[in-house]
Amino acid sequence: AEPGDGFRMEGVVAGYGDVTVLRGVDLAVRPGEIVALLGANGAGKSTTCAVAAGDLPVRAGRVLLGGQDVTRWPAHRRARAGILLAPEGRGVFPGLTVEENLRTWLPDPEPVYERLPRLAERRGLPAGALSGGEQQLLTLAPALVRPPRVLIADEPSLGLAPLVAEQVLALFAELREHGVALLLVEEKATSALELADTVAFMSLGTITWTGPRAAVDGERLTTAYLGVT
Ligand code: ATP
Repeated sequence: AEPGDGFRMEGVVAGYGDVTVLRGVDLAVRPGEIVALLGANGAGKSTTCAVAAGDLPVRAGRVLLGGQDVTRWPAHRRARAGILLAPEGRGVFPGLTVEENLRTWLPDPEPVYERLPRLAERRGLPAGALSGGEQQLLTLAPALVRPPRVLIADEPSLGLAPLVAEQVLALFAELREHGVALLLVEEKATSALELADTVAFMSLGTITWTGPRAAVDGERLTTAYLGVT
């Protein structure tokens, strides 16, 4: 296995019960690359995240990490191997303070406070009292100290105040510098698109177009969201 290969999904088919949602998804994220996965409501983006993290089994196709086949690995094993899924509000203990939350992951939260002053100011508050965006920062904070190999963020800018959204994006840019493979999933072409190196459009459970961000213009966006290829 070549550790530099990043993260790949090849021909992935998955769904719920009798319903097939993903109909052969091909997706690749290299180390140090940000891929924005865009698509309309119901296209299958969250299902793709669930498959990537190992929360939903694959019916056909493969999931690869650094060239290694992890298709049958359960979620906890993928997490240990460096695949981090960051859905909004998950992974935070609402009754514990910010400081206590950080200490469940890190012996010393100081490097996080230096980098994210917003969290430093709120270190004594229960995590449940933070805004959604601040909780998101808290979920992502340990990644700064111990960068994962792959970070998958489902709707990272959903409902965030502009200032917090900016901090989240800066954090993604920093992780890219560290060589993390980042998959940012968004329904709308938001600021995640500005940051992306590569854009993948999803419609009805398949990737309909992949290319460099620079090749995405208004026309391309319109076509993608209408589901025409
Ligand atoms: P959204 O932005 O609305 O979350 P999405 O692109 O992330 O859209 P998914 O959440 O992956 O899309 O949903 C794709 C399809 O799978 C939808 O038709 C949805 O109704 C269905 N679906 C999602 N979760 C389940 C589930 N647990 N059981 C059954 N069907 C589901």
